[in-house]
Amino acid sequence: MNYRHESRQALKRARAALESNDDQNLKYAALELRMAMESLTYDRAKAYKDEFPPDEYETWQPRKVMAVLLEIDATADKDSTLSYGIEETPGQPASQMTMIGTETVLNMETLRRHYDALGSFLHVPTLKQTKSGKGHDHGKLRMRCTEIAEYLDKVLTSPVHNVTLGNFATIDCAECGKPIRKRIPATAETVEAECFSCKASYTIKDIGGGQVHWQSHIHEVACGNKDCGHKIQIWRREFAAGVAWTCPDCAGQNTITYGLRHEPPKSSAPTEQESSE
Ligand SMILES: [Zn+2]
Ligand SMILES: [Zn+2]
Repeated sequence: MNYRHESRQALKRARAALESNDDQNLKYAALELRMAMESLTYDRAKAYKDEFPPDEYETWQPRKVMAVLLEIDATADKDSTLSYGIEETPGQPASQMTMIGTETVLNMETLRRHYDALGSFLHVPTLKQTKSGKGHDHGKLRMRCTEIAEYLDKVLTSPVHNVTLGNFATIDCAECGKPIRKRIPATAETVEAECFSCKASYTIKDIGGGQVHWQSHIHEVACGNKDCGHKIQIWRREFAAGVAWTCPDCAGQNTITYGLRHEPPKSSAPTEQESSE
């Protein structure tokens, strides 16, 4: 499947629907634009196929694919420029660089915003929206569709696409054993990685010499029963109010709750309560 070609075809059909100037055709334009965005997402995913959990992503929805793309490579949604030049001194940047082109890639934030906005136009307005006169705003939809079509055109005519240069680090997840791959940006010393399959997360640290160190985000939590104190290990991503467990030692129930503590501003005059302490 040539997803880039599919995307171009969908964009072409969307443009035709927009140019007909018939408001009834706007929903077809919206549908084609959404399909163009989905094709582009899958096209982008193919460039990262070695970084993806194999087999699994083939059934994933575009938004999930894009979320995973961003998890592998935080720069995946940034435009990139590719240039080359001849090194006069080995290892030193060339003085004369030739720019091959700038890549405008599908940005996840843009995708989510546009994708969801168009989605709402593909449903009949709710009874409440119709009653309050808030049906579909065709002018707004036309503007949105035109904006997206222009953006997609830029992405699709970009001379450079799907560049995945960089260093990738791989480990098997300590929790579930599934492989986690992550690009190590040249500028950052540490980068965070999350497992696709479970709640595990890690900090990857560049320790030099082409070596990286993976630090698990595991926290030890002691049982709330002061006489027990049995410690369990919780992944940082599991931490949430309401999460509960039965202590294997004292059989009591522990629940994570959030508290709020308030302190008056330091500069304020001492209150009666404070001066009495
Ligand atoms: Zn895992
Ligand atoms: Zn206990």
